[in-house]
Amino acid sequence: MKGQLLVCGCCGVSFRIGDDYIDRGEDHGYGTCPSCVAEIKAGNTALMTTAIDQLAAALSDDRRATFEAMPRHRQEFIAMHAMEQGILQWTI
Ligand SMILES: [Zn+2]
Repeated sequence: MKGQLLVCGCCGVSFRIGDDYIDRGEDHGYGTCPSCVAEIKAGNTALMTTAIDQLAAALSDDRRATFEAMPRHRQEFIAMHAMEQGILQWTI
């Protein structure tokens, strides 16, 4: 698979599969180029940061301090749980 030439399904550029490529089940001959993967990750991080900030802003002072002292992965887990429960709504 490494070295195989694919077409990016996002931007249309041709690229060769590198060592860190993750197969996401795209159609044969298609994939996601490293530039688009980086852009998607950055976008997801920004969206999660927005969700965490909105959640923190809705908490009481004491709970906000506790929430903000948590590690990022714990804040993300709580934000995702709040979205799954419909407490925090998500629109794109
Ligand atoms: Zn691309």
